[in-house]
Amino acid sequence: MLLTVLREKLVCECGRTGYLKLREDDQPLSGTWESYSLEGFEGSSLTITSSGSIPGDKLAYLRPLCPQCSQWGKVKYASRA
Ligand SMILES: [Zn+2]
Repeated sequence: MLLTVLREKLVCECGRTGYLKLREDDQPLSGTWESYSLEGFEGSSLTITSSGSIPGDKLAYLRPLCPQCSQWGKVKYASRA
């Protein structure tokens, strides 16, 4: 079982930071899948299997809600700011 966890840093306009967490699994029996979830922000999670399609903007799909300023749409990738 190969399980990879990657984190991409996110930052809200109010200064709060969190992470977009990607878990990637490569299992011979169940196939490859990826799972996205948020750390530090409220929001949805997203699981993609090898047969599924990937939303172009994962961050928009997850709709991160900042618990500090209670606003949507203010969270951006820190590395791309
Ligand atoms: Zn905020």
